[in-house]
Amino acid sequence: MQPSTFREIQDQIQAFVEAREWGQFHSPKNLAAAISVEAGELLAHFRWLSEEESNDVVKHPEVRAEVDAEIADVLILTLELADRMGIDPAEAVRRKLAVNEARYPVDKSRGRNVKYNRL
Ligand SMILES: [Mg+2]
Repeated sequence: MQPSTFREIQDQIQAFVEAREWGQFHSPKNLAAAISVEAGELLAHFRWLSEEESNDVVKHPEVRAEVDAEIADVLILTLELADRMGIDPAEAVRRKLAVNEARYPVDKSRGRNVKYNRL
């Protein structure tokens, strides 16, 4: 399988949406809400599990496949929202990683799970 760029995937998503005339429903607000809903569906697979049980989800092919599909739902909607708003997802990720690098210096944050303003 060839590696895909975000642009190629976004073009596929756009074609899917246009063929169904769903663009009329996909305002930024609705897409952001849909991302939240799909993230909730992803989270539902881990609800009430212990840390260890959540690590073991990957060992159950049926649940793993469902998690796989929810991850895809979140990504599809996120890539569509970025496209609609003219945001380059790769650049957005690089920008945010740079922000996080500055917020979480390795020497202060290694092995710690506190927010940057508490470091
Ligand atoms: Mg879903």
